[in-house]
Amino acid sequence: MATTSQPESDATRASSTYAGARAVLATMHGKQAAIAPVMHDTLGLQVETAEAINTDALGTFTGEIPRPGSIRETAIAKARLGMTRTGLPIGLASEGSYGPHPSIPFVCGGLELMVLVDDTRGIVITEHLVVDAPVYAHAPVSNQVQLATFFEQTGFPQHAVIVKPNRTDRATLPVFKGLRSASAVADAVIRCAACSIDQLAFVQTDMRAHMNPTRMASIARLAARLCARIATACPHCAAPGYGQTDIETGLPCAWCGCPSDLVRHEIFGCVACDHREHRPRPDGLEFADPGRCSRCNP
Ligand SMILES: [Zn+2]
Ligand SMILES: [Zn+2]
Repeated sequence: MATTSQPESDATRASSTYAGARAVLATMHGKQAAIAPVMHDTLGLQVETAEAINTDALGTFTGEIPRPGSIRETAIAKARLGMTRTGLPIGLASEGSYGPHPSIPFVCGGLELMVLVDDTRGIVITEHLVVDAPVYAHAPVSNQVQLATFFEQTGFPQHAVIVKPNRTDRATLPVFKGLRSASAVADAVIRCAACSIDQLAFVQTDMRAHMNPTRMASIARLAARLCARIATACPHCAAPGYGQTDIETGLPCAWCGCPSDLVRHEIFGCVACDHREHRPRPDGLEFADPGRCSRCNP
């Protein structure tokens, strides 16, 4: 997935589009702290939260409830929950996905995605952030030494943990979430190990935003990027939300001219019309090192 940020200089600014407008943010986990100030300061958009909205119905990090679709579909569904609840035509939501790094073995990575759904214009503006150094970990534990190691690696207790049985054949199992005291975790480990087939407890970082300050900081960075994209108007129809939507690989090899696996173009597009643009690489590179060519370096 493409990862460049929104250049501000080469596109028409449309930062007044949402000045004075109201948007509802669907969150149960305090994300307004990371999102509302930047939306207000850069766009003039007033972000409100919806009361008694259960975003967990659309999937949880701990997996008790699986997500119904792609990360983007889930974020849009979440935003629409808030819009339905409040009657506001503009909604915001964010969604994260954490797991093994897509390209580095044994390293964890994350993807954060945020959407603005605007039914007054019939558009959805999406931005994402690749998180290279998340606080995300999980491990089976059976003793205090293993637990202490886990705490050291995960910034406990600022970052809370979840404890559940490592292996169980029961349909309902105890899950202890949002734990921030060492004694509460130790107690949960004993109780979960006792009802696990292998006598082990499974400890993991609690990835809910209000339980993981590193994740909350990533959401704040993403909110700033989404604002920059929202403030960029389509050069053709002036709709907000113009920006990079894709990449095209195939930068020609410097020796043989064949397409390599390096990025050749960044593709920019509009969320409202069909306008598309192929832009050259921002670093100006026009030919690939032959080491990246499957013909010259098979
Ligand atoms: Zn070549
Ligand atoms: Zn357009």
